[in-house]
Amino acid sequence: MKYVRSFGGGSAEGRAKDKALLGGKGANLAEMASLGLPVPPGFTITTEVCRYVMEHGADAYPDGLDDEVAQALARVEELTRSRFGDAAQPLLVSVRSGAPASMPGMMDTILNLGLNDTTVEALAKQSGNAWFAWDCYRRFVAMYGEVVLGVVAADEHQEPPFDRLLDELKRKHRANRDQDLSEAALREAVATFKAEVQKVTGAPFPDDVRTQLWGAIGAVFQSWNNPRADYYRKMHGISSTMGTAVNVQAMVFGNLGDDCATGVAFTRNPATGTPELYGEFLTNAQGEDVVAGIRTPEPISELATKLPAAHAELVRVAKLLEDHFRDMQDLEFTIQKGQLYMLQTRTGKRTGKAMVRVAVDLVNEGKLTPREAVLRIEPGKLDEVLHPTIDPKARPAAAAKGLPASPGAAIGRIVFTANAAAEWAQRGEQVLLVRTDTSPEDIHGMKAAAGILTARGGMTSHAAVVARGMGKCCVTSCTALRVDVAKKTASIVGGGKETKLKEGDTLTLDGSTGQVFLGSLPLVPAQLGAELGTLMEWVDSFRTMKVRTNADTPTDARTARSFGAEGIGLCRTEHMFFQPERILAVREMILASDEAGRRAALAKILPMQRGDFAELFRVMDGLPVTIRLLDPPLHEFLPHAPQEIEEVAKELGQSPAKVAAKIHELTEANPMLGHRGCRLAITYPEIYEIQAQAIGEACALVAKEGVVVTPEIMIPLVMVPEELRRLRELVARAFEKALGGAQIAYTIGTMIELPRACVVADRIAEHADFFSFGTNDLTQTTFGLSRDDAGRFLPTYLDQGLVPADPFVALDPEGVGALIELGVRGGRATRPHLKVGICGEHGGEPSSVEFCHRAGFDYVSCSPFRVPIARAAAARAALAAEAKG
Ligand code: ADP
Ligand code: MG
Ligand code: MG
Repeated sequence: MKYVRSFGGGSAEGRAKDKALLGGKGANLAEMASLGLPVPPGFTITTEVCRYVMEHGADAYPDGLDDEVAQALARVEELTRSRFGDAAQPLLVSVRSGAPASMPGMMDTILNLGLNDTTVEALAKQSGNAWFAWDCYRRFVAMYGEVVLGVVAADEHQEPPFDRLLDELKRKHRANRDQDLSEAALREAVATFKAEVQKVTGAPFPDDVRTQLWGAIGAVFQSWNNPRADYYRKMHGISSTMGTAVNVQAMVFGNLGDDCATGVAFTRNPATGTPELYGEFLTNAQGEDVVAGIRTPEPISELATKLPAAHAELVRVAKLLEDHFRDMQDLEFTIQKGQLYMLQTRTGKRTGKAMVRVAVDLVNEGKLTPREAVLRIEPGKLDEVLHPTIDPKARPAAAAKGLPASPGAAIGRIVFTANAAAEWAQRGEQVLLVRTDTSPEDIHGMKAAAGILTARGGMTSHAAVVARGMGKCCVTSCTALRVDVAKKTASIVGGGKETKLKEGDTLTLDGSTGQVFLGSLPLVPAQLGAELGTLMEWVDSFRTMKVRTNADTPTDARTARSFGAEGIGLCRTEHMFFQPERILAVREMILASDEAGRRAALAKILPMQRGDFAELFRVMDGLPVTIRLLDPPLHEFLPHAPQEIEEVAKELGQSPAKVAAKIHELTEANPMLGHRGCRLAITYPEIYEIQAQAIGEACALVAKEGVVVTPEIMIPLVMVPEELRRLRELVARAFEKALGGAQIAYTIGTMIELPRACVVADRIAEHADFFSFGTNDLTQTTFGLSRDDAGRFLPTYLDQGLVPADPFVALDPEGVGALIELGVRGGRATRPHLKVGICGEHGGEPSSVEFCHRAGFDYVSCSPFRVPIARAAAARAALAAEAKG
């Protein structure tokens, strides 16, 4: 077994494809080295060792690892003509984590390892720059102290100890910035840091370089299981069993003077997709300075003026890497004395907008085929492109401006800590997380917030990168902002005035322009841009499933049609009754004591329904419209306030007491499993009869206007075939009568939403022209789990990995999916061409859409804004099935 793979010096023992073993960082370093790019030499300890350590406990390494590391280190020494721990030519290394899946900033990195009181003097002498040597040393002691020795802040309100000590020194020596500290002050920093280590851990800082190396290797392996890495993995569905690799790499220095720099760059703009080298750098700086927001970095374009040769080389390498990987890359580089070194490349995280633009551009540039472009798309991310933006007509002057780090608009009440954001969001508040800068510890708060605003940091700061990954609006580097976490206040200063803000105040952020507004601004729906249109044309050329929408109103139907919906898959007729003037009629119907009373109420409902259906048919001219007959959650319609009861009583000509008694009688112990769906029509057939009449009259009406209607009448919650046989007969009779001789093709089918219906689907299909799987109820009834109550324990189940995903979000393929497959098989055994669709929330969730494709569905139906997502997911499913043969 080989646990260690070397890279650098023009070759590598691995390639980009070896991510599972070498981690993403190690695999790509190997690939870059093999391409002959300037990569400092180093080696990767494989993820296998991490899995070994997880199993056998910390510091229990597999046999032979020691020797392999020693050999690989010797190779690095040879290539760099230096020796680890040497008193004349010391080798310094970085020890970097790198998991198979990208987890930016979630685990730890240590730079300048190999420094001690002897080697620091050698470094000073060798470089002729003592300031530099001590700058490296103080950074190393702080990083090592924090990551390996656990000298960290007690909680998020406190400054990390080494930051605090450095700030004290800066004050003492009147230094504004880190780089203003003198060599003597840096020596003092090292001594102070070491004293802090001794105080906190009770042991001296390790001087032996091999102890340092193994300490760092161990810490990186352990960081695989730190809470923030764990949280990140859960959020992104990354398995926790893979483990991380460790990369040990010769240091190059961006802090040797003004002809040195460190930076990050994207081969295209990650917020918009614009083809331009995009990123930031700092001169005379090291490593994390750019990302940590300690100093505000300069845009890459400035590098062309400051270090033109290195800039030209970066442009060349960036293009080479993008062409090689055929995707937008995210690069980390360091320039030492004018010479460029590449430290990392990976597929760049991008916003939904950039995802679309880059995919279309790469095809137009001939680098990808449309098929590849569609397979690269993450359908879920299209959601961001469809998000509302601030109404341009109602845009006041901005209170402040920062950098447009992640686009979209966000409105919310401001909070100043990640914990507060999480707590407020839990209470149902829409919040904005406002901080000086964010760190990986803030990730749960960023997730909970609608948007993020930071005073510091650039376009590639932690906040910016994480927000873009989450598709969340983010404004960084808002320099007018001052945050006082302890007092829970902030202020915006500028133009000679100061606006005071406190926790709970409302702001609106525009992540596309970087503007910050006081109060809440009106938003307008998104427009589909030209690039999305092109991408969607490709998508549609590959997909075989139709995509419809769930829409109850003409507005929703119109939106969905503009997003490419090919019909309505679910119109919930009870949703047409929520307006106050209508709900009264429904209450009368529910509370009527006999058929005559119900018919009187239904007579009021009939014209309203006819009008609604007619309007929906007009909007969906030429496309099928599935109308589900009444399935009212009774308890949602019953009046409760005395005044409401009185109102209904008056209409019914009954006493309020009698009505109250009736309400009591109708109250169900478990409404979800109660008197609803077609059960209502079995007991009170006149309800479906009148609805069918309203649909028929609406059809006849619009057909006269020249509208092409294809109604599909759907009967919900069928459990035994006989329900459907009877109701179908009743509905067909009423519908045809209402048509009054108009020739309209229509179908009658059922919603499959109970396990029993799946099991007896063959017999149900005798009476159904189509099946539409109602997966919300089917999930509830299969799991025996009420959606409304699951919030109490489902998060624990998810947390403990008892269920891989929320089954109400992503269709459970194992249980619910198996029932669906049974239902499709049964239905099609009776009717080989039975039309099959889905109309639950799952119809717009990518993994569920892919399931539906595999199960042989004709269409999926989802909410209007998810129609483009479903189209893309359907195309990917078709391509995946094709690839499998
Ligand atoms: P992350 O996974 O959080 O990005 P990295 O391992 O990439 O952490 O390290 C963070 C930064 O440290 C890099 O971007 C780079 O600037 C710096 N760094 C890492 N290794 C070296 C090295 N060998 N020489 C110089 N800088 C390095
Ligand atoms: Mg890092
Ligand atoms: Mg990195």
